[in-house]
Amino acid sequence: MDEQEMAIVLKEKDDLNREMSNLRSQRKAEAQPQQLHLNYISKESLSLLIAESTNRVNELEERLNLALSLQTEATNKVKELEDRLKESVILQIESANKVKELEDRLKDVEILQAESTNRVREVEASLESKSEWWNKKEKFYHTLTEFQLGALRELKFASQSIHQEIVKTKKSYSDESTTLGSRIKALDDAANNYYSILAEDRKLHNELQELKGDIRVCCRIRPFLPGQKRKHSIFEYIGDNGDLIVSDPFKRGKEGFRSFKFDKVYSPEATQAEVFSDTQPLVQSVLDGYNVCIFAYGQTGSGKTYTMSGPDGATEEEWGVNYRALNNFFRISQSRESNFTYEISVQIVEIYNEQVRDLLGKNDNSAKRYPLFKIIIIHVVKTTSAVLELMDIGLNNRAKSSTAMNERSSRSHSIVSIHARGLDLKSGSSLRGSLHLVDLAGSERIDRSEVTGDRLKEAQHINKSLSALGDVIFALAQKNSHVPYRNSKLTQVLQSSLDGQAKIVMFVQLNPDASSYNETLHTLKFAERVSSVEDVRELTEQVNIFLPDVARKNIYISSKLI
Ligand code: ADP
Ligand code: MG
Repeated sequence: MDEQEMAIVLKEKDDLNREMSNLRSQRKAEAQPQQLHLNYISKESLSLLIAESTNRVNELEERLNLALSLQTEATNKVKELEDRLKESVILQIESANKVKELEDRLKDVEILQAESTNRVREVEASLESKSEWWNKKEKFYHTLTEFQLGALRELKFASQSIHQEIVKTKKSYSDESTTLGSRIKALDDAANNYYSILAEDRKLHNELQELKGDIRVCCRIRPFLPGQKRKHSIFEYIGDNGDLIVSDPFKRGKEGFRSFKFDKVYSPEATQAEVFSDTQPLVQSVLDGYNVCIFAYGQTGSGKTYTMSGPDGATEEEWGVNYRALNNFFRISQSRESNFTYEISVQIVEIYNEQVRDLLGKNDNSAKRYPLFKIIIIHVVKTTSAVLELMDIGLNNRAKSSTAMNERSSRSHSIVSIHARGLDLKSGSSLRGSLHLVDLAGSERIDRSEVTGDRLKEAQHINKSLSALGDVIFALAQKNSHVPYRNSKLTQVLQSSLDGQAKIVMFVQLNPDASSYNETLHTLKFAERVSSVEDVRELTEQVNIFLPDVARKNIYISSKLI
């Protein structure tokens, strides 16, 4: 193609482009208002459409929800119906079984009915025959019943009269029991009264004992023994009120006389019973809770053992203080049985060469095993004879080693201790008292030039313990604050019983013969030292004032006892 052609073409092309852009702008101008209108229209309709479609969607959603809930409900219903169906099927099966069972039963019942019909028939037949027999029986029972009714009427009548009788008796019983009640009350009052009188009597008794003094020294003069030749006594005068005058066989006239005063002096004729009678009230004190110690002091052969125990193989009349005291003990404790119960126990010990030995222990040579008094066994006893048995054992156990002068028993102290523990049944209170019966070792003094060795040792021990005893009793009589108990085994052993409100009786045994004068004088001096320092005469007067009151009480108590 040439350039012309080309220019023509290009020109044509430019024309065409120009024409096209003209057309375009023309169309654009034409289209712009339409476009605006269109835009407006489409925006409105679109929002309308959107609103409409949103509503529609909501509506559809609601419907869907409804449809869904309906579907769930329907599903549940279907499930429920299925369950019911299952149940009804089961029930149907069950009812079918039941029907079957019932049918079976019906069959059984039918069989039974048939059987019972047969039986009824049978029974009817037998009844008919029996009915006649029953009629007969009925008649018989009828007459019997009538007869029994008559008897019953009679019985009723009798029972009524018995009832009346019982009412009458009951009344008289009640009257009697009322009077009995008042009588019992009176008796009870009397018993209470008696109890308080007893208590008062015990108090009075002990007050009287106290008034007589806590320490009593009584001398007892031994009679001449059958074999003794010179029967002239050194005792010039023995008074009823405790006066004693001794005459020195080696001095003539008034110078040879010495007078003493004790609580009591027993003459050689005094019986065992008389000697005990003055000590006996103290035994009662033990049962009232006091401690009592009775000693026999004197030279060997002066009658200590005789006073305490009696002679060998003693008859009841010859019984010494210890047997009598025990008898009294059991007698008083028995008489108090309704108000008190007592437990009585016994221990027997010997003190030899400052050693304590249990005489009721099994082993004889066991002195060293009993260094302390406390561990010695106490024997509980119920009767006097049981105590006597124990005393025999004790006596046999008291070893006897014969020497030139006397048996060992003379050189040892023997202590029989009786402990009473009483329970006051009314007040519930308890009391403890003890009685110690001490047969002391011979008080004779030993000539140091004559004895040596063991014998001297024994004598020294005896001397020491007897003077310790004298010091203790003297301190007690003086009411000293310090009492020298620790100076000998004897006083140590008796300390708890001597302390405080203890009552002490010292039987001072005396030989009547002239050859014993010096020893007798020594004994009397010991006795004088330990005897009460108070004015005995004044006390005796007080006691005499007191005595009628005691006698009056005793008469009252005796009358209550009857
Ligand atoms: P002690 O124990 O002091 O050594 P005993 O009691 O053994 O003395 O007495 C010595 C002797 O005297 C004994 O034979 C005893 O029977 C006798 N005897 C002592 N006192 C009396 C008395 N009151 N009556 C009769 N005989 C007595
Ligand atoms: Mg003796």
